[in-house]
Order: sequence, then C-alpha cells, then structure tokens
Amino acid sequence: MVQTVQDLFIIGGGINGCGIARDAAGRGYSVTLAEMNDLASATSSASTKLIHGGLRYLEYYEFRLVREALKEREVLLGNAPHIIWPLRFVLPHHKGLRPAWFLRLGLFFYDHLGGRKLLPGTKTLDMRSHEVGKPLKALFSKGFEYSDCWVNDARLVVLNAMDAKAKGANILTRTKVISAQKQGDHWEIVTQDQLSGEQVTHMARMVINAAGPWVDDVLNGAMERGGVQNIRLVQGSHIVVPKVFDHDRCYIFQNKDGRIIFAIPYEEDFTLIGTTDQDYTQSLDKVEISQAEIDYLCSAASKYFTKDITPDQVVWTYSGVRPLYDDGASAAQEATRDYILKLEGATKGDAQKNGAEQDDLPCLHVFGGKITTYRKLAESALEKIEESLGHKGSVWTRSADLPGGDFEPQDFDAKLTELQTDYAFLEADHARRLLRLYGNLAWSVLGNAKSLNDLGQWFGSDLYEREVRYLVDHEWAISAEDILYRRTKRGLHLDDTQQNALQLYLQTIHNAA
Ligand SMILES: Cc1cc2nc3c(=O)[nH]c(=O)nc-3n(C[C@H](O)[C@H](O)[C@H](O)COP(=O)(O)OP(=O)(O)OC[C@H]3O[C@@H](n4cnc5c(N)ncnc54)[C@H](O)[C@@H]3O)c2cc1C
Repeated sequence: MVQTVQDLFIIGGGINGCGIARDAAGRGYSVTLAEMNDLASATSSASTKLIHGGLRYLEYYEFRLVREALKEREVLLGNAPHIIWPLRFVLPHHKGLRPAWFLRLGLFFYDHLGGRKLLPGTKTLDMRSHEVGKPLKALFSKGFEYSDCWVNDARLVVLNAMDAKAKGANILTRTKVISAQKQGDHWEIVTQDQLSGEQVTHMARMVINAAGPWVDDVLNGAMERGGVQNIRLVQGSHIVVPKVFDHDRCYIFQNKDGRIIFAIPYEEDFTLIGTTDQDYTQSLDKVEISQAEIDYLCSAASKYFTKDITPDQVVWTYSGVRPLYDDGASAAQEATRDYILKLEGATKGDAQKNGAEQDDLPCLHVFGGKITTYRKLAESALEKIEESLGHKGSVWTRSADLPGGDFEPQDFDAKLTELQTDYAFLEADHARRLLRLYGNLAWSVLGNAKSLNDLGQWFGSDLYEREVRYLVDHEWAISAEDILYRRTKRGLHLDDTQQNALQLYLQTIHNAA
C-alpha cells in the first residue's frame, strides 16, 4: 500500500502520545499514531488515577511541576466532567512523623499555588468527632482535608485518541514500530501488525517517540542508536480490597519510610490502596505486583485502619512502571516527576526564519510526565513541532471538551436524571456508570433501546452487547481485557466463565469482520 508523507508519526498510544496526536491534529498537522498493544495498555492505565498537584513533590522543591499540575485540575475537570470529578483527601496527623505545622504549611502552598476557583480549600479536622475518623485507629486526633480530582485514566487516553481521530488522525492499535530510519528528506517507519504479522512502511516529516517506559528501547532498537539511557524505571503497584469505609473521601497516609499511600473509594464496592515506589529492572512485557509489595501496602494501611488489611482480602492488583527522566536522584521516590522533551535534528526557529537549511530530520523524545500534566506536555511538544515543521493552528485544547464531556461539572446530576428519564428501564447504578464512562455519548451507546432486551446479549453484571459493540466500533476495543479492565472496570464484577464468554463473543465478531 502506498502511504503519503505525514507531518507526524507518533510512537505510543499512552496519554502522552494520544494527547500530542489530538493537539496536533486539531491544529491541522497530518498525524499517524501507532500503539503496539491496546491504547493505555501500559503506564497510563496503571496510575493512582489522581489529577493532582502532588503534595509530596513540594518536599522535593518541584514548584514548577506542582503549580502547573494544580492549575490543570480545574481545566481538565471542565474538559471531561464525566470521567474526572473532585475528591476530598483526608491527611491524618501522625505524631511520630511530619509535624502538624509542616503539613498545614504545605497545604497552604497547595491551596494558593494553582489558582483554585471550583475546588474547596483546606480544612482542619477533629478526627475524634468527624466521620472520617471512625474507620481509623484512635491514635489520630487531628487531620486536614484538602481537594484534588479523580480521573478514569484509561478512558482519558481513549477520549484523546477519539478526538484526534475525529480531527483526522490515523490511530493504529496492535501496531508495533519495529524500525524508524531517515531516508532522504523523510523518516521511514516500519510497523508490524501484532495480530496478522503484516508489515507496512510509513513516511513522515517528524517522529515523536512517546513510548513511555520503552522510550529508550525505541531509541536503541527501532532507531538503532545503541546504549542510550535517559530514563529510570520505577515500579508502582496498587491493591483493590472490598470497601474498607463508607464515606466518599480518600485518605492519604504517611509511612515511617517517608513515603505516602492513598486509600480511595473505588468502583462503588471497593477500596483502592497504593502505591509502591521501587526501581524496576525486569521485563516490561508483564509488569506485576510482588508479594513483598502486597505485604507492604497491607501493612502500611493497617497502621491506620481499625480493621486489619490482609493479603487474602485482595481481589485485584495492578502494577505499572513510571518512565521517569533519570536526574541522578538516589531514591526512587525522589526522582523528578516532571517531563523533559528532547528535540533532535531541527533548526531552531530564528535560523529557520532566516532561511537556513534544516540540520537534520526532526525527532522528539518524551521523558517522564504525569497524567495530570499531559495537556500541557502536549502544548510544549507542539511548540517543538512548530519549531521543526512550521506553524499551523494555534493553542486550542484548554477550553475544548473531550468526547462526551460537553456539559458543566455541576450539571452531572441533572444529566443523570435526563438519562434515566430517556431510558427508564435502566437501574440507577447502571445509568450512573454509563454517564460516568461516556458522558453525553451515553445516548449514542444506548441508541433506540426501549428495554434491557434491546441491549442484546447479557455478559454479566450490567454489561450488555450494545455497550460492547459500541466499544468495538468506536473505541478500538478488541479483547475482553480491553473492555473489562480499561474501557470499563466490569472485570471486577464478572466471574471467569462470564469473562470467557465475552472473549468468545469478541473473537466471533472479529472473525466475521
Ligand atoms: C503507579 C503509578 C501511579 C501513578 N499515579 C499518577 C497519578 O495519580 N496522577 C498522575 O497524574 N500521574 C500518575 N502516574 C504517572 C502517569 O501514569 C504516567 O506519567 C503516564 O501514564 C505516562 O504516559 P506515557 O504515555 O508516557 O506512557 P505509557 O502509558 O506507558 O504509553 C506508552 C505506550 O507506548 C507503547 N509503545 C512502546 N513501544 C512501542 C513501539 N515500538 N511501537 C508502538 N507502541 C509502542 C506502549 O505499548 C505504551 O502503551 C502514575 C504512574 C504510576 C506507574
């Protein structure tokens, strides 16, 4: 097949690759993105799922990052109020650890660094009388409550990919980049379809290496540099246990080793506990939690909750690897969480304006970053792209809703009533789940259905064929895992037989296609 020369070829369908693809396509650049597995199959679905400034990073003087991240909270909340919502965090004061004045000072900066308008500020709590003190040991008399936001990380990635596609980008999943080489005045990128084995050669004026933990592998492998090492791989794991507490706040617990962990209400019936922070040197193909991490998280949480958290309560775990820029920090938790963009081969703007020849073909490597700052990272990447390929459109994503997010955060409950009125046969929890995942696109998922029967085959819990078809047709879902653990989290509610039946159904529709 003859391919046209694209402006950009992006390697990696995590949050950074998809965020850059969306911004660039919206400005009029032609874009192809290749993801070797499913969208968000790596780090971008394994996060703690917080849109946050990162209170802890203040201790490492990461003021630029914290300020940018704090500001992004309300921007992203406005762009995607279905998959992002405000959360209150409870930080109990532990007498043997950081002093109360120190926590209060940190929270003062946190409240004032980032131009907060919607999110409420910090409050001091008497843990002996407040409901949030009830699930905790009596040791904690004082605490603080502050704001951040929750995000469905995997869906944030998919919504960026959908918007990029709507703006003309070509999104290829299960497509691995095996070679990216300069060929005259363009890059030649060879991809391999991971399902059929078919190889295709693409051409582009610029390559964006947004391969997350594989960013150095792409440099050393597909680009044949050999021996390059820019990033430090730091593993972080989470456990999911049956609900430990009934209210809607989260806890942030300090540990004696200086680290912190979160305990967050999760998928109605569960509590999410994480994360660990340790250097990672094993294979990236299958990143899994270790028994030592499970024990660490259970023991750290048990120091605070009245009820012991034990490994046998764990119903699900997930683990990811942070691709942090290697700044030479000694401990894993001290390595910078900020992002670094390295541009190669472009003539700098001024020289180009003066008619100078381009030095070499441009290529941009993305190191580090956070889910929270992906939009700003994409804007910074676009500055580098403009420097290399010339100006097209202007900055635009700040006030642009993501698919399904075209309503105000405060209108969520009204939207829910509207959905329940239009589809009166839905149980309240089912309607809420669909609105949280799809926002205004919930109407497209449900279409003309008048009863549960119209939703087609039932796969377990409240998952029906119509939603599955929507995810296959519009969101690149291929396997049961894509649907059960990334597009939705229904995997927590379906037994093995039901999960296998879904996989069989998906194979049948793929064979028929
Ligand atoms: C435990 C943990 C908790 C975190 N918590 C938070 C949090 O609460 N809030 C927050 O803001 N951030 C958080 N982060 C950070 C955030 O998750 C990451 O910074 C972000 O997801 C990185 O995205 P990425 O696109 O760079 O990488 P990835 O999501 O890993 O995407 C890279 C993609 O490139 C693909 N790829 C690699 N090589 C190739 C190739 N040759 N061809 C095609 N595709 C390829 C991979 O399959 C992968 O999908 C957390 C991270 C971890 C690990």
